[in-house]
Amino acid sequence: MVDVTPSISNPPKHFLSDKVSRFTESVIREMTRQAIMYEAVNLAQGFPDFSAPEEIKLAARAAIDNDVNQYAITWGAKNLRNAIAQQMGVGQGIAVDPEKEITVCCGSTEAMISTLLAVCNAGDEVVIFEPFYENYGPDSVLSGARPRFVKLRPPADGNGEWSFDEKELRAAFDNHTKAIILNTPNNPTGKVFTRAELELIRDLCVEFDVLAITDEIYEHILYDGTKHISMASLTGMRDRTVTINGMSKTYSVTGWRVGWAVAPERITNAIRKVHDFLTVGAPAPLQEAGAAALSSPQDYYAKLAEGYRVRRNHLIPALASAGFKCFSPRGAYYVMADISAFGFPDDVSFTSFLVKAIGVAAVPGSSFYGDPRDGSQQVRFAFCKKLETLDTAAERLAKLRAARMK
Ligand code: GLN
Repeated sequence: MVDVTPSISNPPKHFLSDKVSRFTESVIREMTRQAIMYEAVNLAQGFPDFSAPEEIKLAARAAIDNDVNQYAITWGAKNLRNAIAQQMGVGQGIAVDPEKEITVCCGSTEAMISTLLAVCNAGDEVVIFEPFYENYGPDSVLSGARPRFVKLRPPADGNGEWSFDEKELRAAFDNHTKAIILNTPNNPTGKVFTRAELELIRDLCVEFDVLAITDEIYEHILYDGTKHISMASLTGMRDRTVTINGMSKTYSVTGWRVGWAVAPERITNAIRKVHDFLTVGAPAPLQEAGAAALSSPQDYYAKLAEGYRVRRNHLIPALASAGFKCFSPRGAYYVMADISAFGFPDDVSFTSFLVKAIGVAAVPGSSFYGDPRDGSQQVRFAFCKKLETLDTAAERLAKLRAARMK
C-alpha cells in the first residue's frame, strides 16, 4: 500500500503576508504593557484614568436594559447619525445628510482604515505630516498606499508653534497623490492648524485633485484661545473631505470603540462597504449612549477643555524641572518633549530606562516618524490623567534630575 498522506514532518510554509512584515505592533500600546509590567505611571497611551461622565454611563446601561443588544444598522444607529449631523451643523456649519453621508465604525481607528481601504489603489500616495499618530503608517501599508511625509518642525522656543514649510508641502503633491491625512488638533504635537494653513492645504487639494482625510478626534480639547476648524467647512472642500471623529476622547470612553466617518455620498458608499465586511457594526448600546452624549450641553465641552488645560499646566513644569524641553500643546492631550539634556543615544533606550528605573512610561518619539532617527531625541507624554497620577509621575521624574546631575 502506498502512503499518500503528506509527511507530518513537512515544515510549515512561511504563511505571513508581506504587508505585515512592513510594520510592527503599536509602540504606544506596547508601552502600556510595559507600564503594567514595571508598575510605572502610564503617561504613554492616551486614555483617561478618571471616570467617564455619569450621564453617559447611565445612557449605556439604559440601552442594554432596553434590549438594544443586537446589531445596529451596519452603518450606524439612526439616533447617533442624527446627533452627529446635528453637531456638525451647529459646531462647524457643515450640512450633513445622516442617511447618506455617515458611517459609524469601531472607533475612529476603524473609520480611518476603512476610508483608506475604500479610496486607495496600490501605488497611490498619501501625504502625512510628521510626527504623526502611529496608526497612519500601518494604515497606509494595509491599504497599499505609499506615505509621503512632510515635516512639522518644533518651535525654537517651547511656547511657539509647530510649523511646516509651504514648499515642502507642495513638493509632496503630484499626480500619484490620492489623499492627505490631516490630524488637527494634532497628536502628538498639539498643533492646531490655523485657517491660513488649512486654506493652503485646501488649495493644493483642489489643484492636484486630492482627498482630505481629517482626524478631528481632539476637536474639543483646545487651549490658549485656539479654535478648531473642520477642513470640510472650507469653501471647495465639502466634496473632497472625509471627516473622522469619535466618542473616545471627547467623552472619555476610549474602550467603547465608537467613531465615525462623514463623507460625500459616493465616498460614504465605498466606506460603508469596507466597514460592513470588516466589523459589521460598532456596539449597538454604546451607539445609543453616543446619541445622548452628543447632545451634552455646551458647557460640558468648555469644562472638558479647562480640565485638560489644568492638567497640561500641571505636568509641563514638572517635566521642565526634570530636564525636558517641552513643546507646549495648543490642543489634544500630549506633550512632545526633547530629551537631549539627558545624553541618551536614543529615545528607545531613554523610555526603557524611564519605565524601569524611574517608573514612568512615555512613548519613544521615533514611533511618530517615518525615519526613526528623526524622533530619536523626543518622547511623548500623555496628560489625560488624574492630577494625583500626574503628581506621582512628577515625584518620580524628579529622580531623573538627580540621576542627570550625577
Ligand atoms: N490615541 C491614543 C494615543 O495616541 C491611543 C492610541 C490607541 O492605543 N488607540 O495614545
